[in-house]
Amino acid sequence: MSQRNEDLFARAQLRIPAGVNSPVRAFGAVGGAPPFMARASGARLWDAEGRGYIDYLGSWGPMVAGHTHPAVVEAVQAAAAKALSFGAPTEAEIELAEAICRLVPSLERVRLVCSGTEAAMTAIRLARGHTGRNLIVKFEGCYHGHVDSLLVKAGSGALTFGNPSSAGVPPETAAHTQVLDFNDTAQLERTFAARGGEIAGVIVEPVAGNMNLVLPKPGFLEALRAQCTKHGAVLILDEVMTGFRVALGGAQARFGIRPDLTTLGKVIGGGLPVGAVGGRRDIMERIAPLGPVYQAGTLSGNPVAVAAGLATLKLVEAPGFQERIEATTQALVDGLAAEAKQAGVVFCAQSIGSMFGVYFRAAPPSNLAEVMQCDQERFNRFFHAMLERGVYLAPSAYEAGFVSAAHGAAEIDETLLAAREAFRA
Ligand SMILES: *Cc1c(COP(=O)(O)O)cnc(C)c1O
Repeated sequence: MSQRNEDLFARAQLRIPAGVNSPVRAFGAVGGAPPFMARASGARLWDAEGRGYIDYLGSWGPMVAGHTHPAVVEAVQAAAAKALSFGAPTEAEIELAEAICRLVPSLERVRLVCSGTEAAMTAIRLARGHTGRNLIVKFEGCYHGHVDSLLVKAGSGALTFGNPSSAGVPPETAAHTQVLDFNDTAQLERTFAARGGEIAGVIVEPVAGNMNLVLPKPGFLEALRAQCTKHGAVLILDEVMTGFRVALGGAQARFGIRPDLTTLGKVIGGGLPVGAVGGRRDIMERIAPLGPVYQAGTLSGNPVAVAAGLATLKLVEAPGFQERIEATTQALVDGLAAEAKQAGVVFCAQSIGSMFGVYFRAAPPSNLAEVMQCDQERFNRFFHAMLERGVYLAPSAYEAGFVSAAHGAAEIDETLLAAREAFRA
C-alpha cells in the first residue's frame, strides 16, 4: 500500500472513529491500512491511488448486478432529477412493493425502511406485538444488524472485534434474547419444549453469511418452521443478505420454507439505502397506522433509493441471471480449492447462489464453534497477498464473499492466478 491510502487513513482517523463509518472496514482483523475507494465499474474497483481490484465484497452484498450498471445509474439519475425526497407516497414505492411480493411470495404485505437493521428491529417488534410475548430466539454467529436485543453473540464485525455482545446493551434487554447454536435441531426442540409459551419469534439467517458462510443442515430450517407453528411463535427469516442471491426468491424459495415474516435489504436497494420487512398480512397489518405496533421513517421509500432498487430487481429477474452468476461463483470456489490443493494448503470453499465461503480448515463449518477453528493467521496472509495482486476480498475470516453478474471468465482466471501465488505466500 503506498502513500495516498495511508495518508487518507491517517486523516480519516482524526475525525472519524477508526477512520471508518462501519467497523469491519477498518481492516482491524487483517491489519494494515484499507484502500480508500474512488470509483467502480462492473466487477472492478479503483482506489484513491488508481489501483484496480476485482471486487468480491460487492459493498457487502448489494452490488449483485455489478457496479455502476448503466440501467441502475440511469434510473437513479432520472429519479434524482424529479425529486430527492417527498415524505409523501409515490407510485414507484408501489412498484417496488409489488415486485418484492411477486418475487418472494410469502410477503403478502411489505413496508420499506432504510436499512437491514431497521427491518430486523421492526420484525421483532411485530413478532412481540403480534404474540404478546417477549422472548426472541436467535442463533450464535447470526447477525441481524446492530439492534440492541439482537446484538448478542452476533457475527462479523462483533466477532472480528471480540465483542460478542456490545457494551451499551442493558442486561434487561439481552435477557429477552435466547441464543442457540446454528444447526442444532435437538437444542431448538428442547428450548421450545421448555419455553415455547414465552417465545414471540425466532430470527435466523437461513444461510448464515455473517460468520463466514454456513449452510443450514437438512432438516434445520424445517424444524424451525415446525416448532414456530406448533408453539404459535413468529418465524422471521432474515434474508437481508440471502435475498435475490441464494435464489431469485431467496433462501426460502431454495429450501421451500415459508416464514411468517421476512427481512430484506442490500440487493433491494441496488447500492442505495433500502430495507424491507414483510410477510403474513395479519401480522403486517398490526403495524402503524393500521395497528398498535409503531414504526416510521422520514426517508423510508426514498424515490432515488427505490429507483435503484427497482432497476436492480429488473436485472436480477431476467432469465438466466441467477443460473449464470451461480455458475461463475461455483467456478470460483472450485478453482480456489484446486489451487489450495496444489499448494498443499489446508483449505476448502463452497458457494450457494452468488455467495461463497473460503475456510482455512479441512471441511466447511456448520456452526460458529467450527468457524472459529479456521486458521485466521493463514487467512490474513492470504487476504493481503490477494489484495496486493488486485483481488479485493472481505477483510475478515468471518465474512461471506459475493460475486456479481459482471464477473466472468476473465475475472475468475485472474483471481485464480493471484490465488496460485497467494496460497504460497
Ligand atoms: C447486513 C445485514 C443486516 C443489517 O443490514 P444493514 O443495512 O447493514 O443495517 C441484517 N441482517 C443480515 C443477515 C445482514 O447480512
